[in-house]
Amino acid sequence: MATNLSGTVALVTGASSGIGAATARRLAEHGASVALVARRKDRLDDLTAEIEKAGGTALVVEADITDRAQAEAAVEQTVEHFGRLDTLVNNAGLMLLGPVVDAEVEEWERMIAVNVQGLLCTTRASLPHLPHLPHLPHLPHLLKAAEEGPRRVADIVNISSIAGRVAWNGYGVYNLTKFGVNGFTESLRQEVTQRHVRVGVLEPGGVDTELGSHNKPEIQGAMITPFYETTEVLAPEDIADGVAYMVTRPRHSSIGDLWIMPTDQA
Ligand code: NDP
Repeated sequence: MATNLSGTVALVTGASSGIGAATARRLAEHGASVALVARRKDRLDDLTAEIEKAGGTALVVEADITDRAQAEAAVEQTVEHFGRLDTLVNNAGLMLLGPVVDAEVEEWERMIAVNVQGLLCTTRASLPHLPHLPHLPHLPHLLKAAEEGPRRVADIVNISSIAGRVAWNGYGVYNLTKFGVNGFTESLRQEVTQRHVRVGVLEPGGVDTELGSHNKPEIQGAMITPFYETTEVLAPEDIADGVAYMVTRPRHSSIGDLWIMPTDQA
């Protein structure tokens, strides 16, 4: 087992399935203590047992990140439990496809709430340095962790999508959220990189997860199932490998953008 993240703490949102669960496993294999954030506590309990059986350390943090208070509490719970935070993986996401004409606005709101609002809240809560508020507990969040050992660097990886680079008919609001994630990520990278918090996006193509299953049956039949039936897609572990690569670079090397596609996907 590699130990190049030993002594560090990682928080992964959307750790109850798919890419988030695989990423949490992989970071734990690299020696990080991992906080597992999602709504389905039973899944997080199972993953914690699995990680601990393999010799790792994990914490279940049940939270709906669309609720700002819960998103902030998830970060605080992690920092209070483990004493620090070195790596944030903003992975939780929702993809509801379909035409804009006659769309259900409630679906747009849910996607924006998870993919954008949730990501913003966990990011903001993870950065504090707070030297101007000495009465507050001085627990090392990302900016402070980057000043101290063990690595003197911290990381934010935002899981975007190929849908953050290319727009397609029927993907409108999902495209909007992921293009937005890409722009926000690069802006934040420029803001904090010289304080040694590395910020980057990982943009996957098709991955075999539950992501498409939240769509209506007619959308699944028209836009999702045909693609998965004809394409050898990625496994969640392929994306976990990419996250692990990004956060284990030497301190002077920052990966701003990693685009991982199935070879089979044009
Ligand atoms: P999954 O549906 O398997 O995982 C989504 C995760 O997000 C679940 O763990 C879910 O947990 C969590 N989540 C959803 N809503 C909330 C919420 N309100 N609060 C907290 N957690 C929430 O899909 P993937 O693993 O595929 O998706 C992970 C990321 O990868 C997403 O951002 C997605 O856009 C991106 N992506 C996926 C691709 C693919 O082909 N699969 C391609 C490109 C990008 P719970 O329901 O327990 O809360």
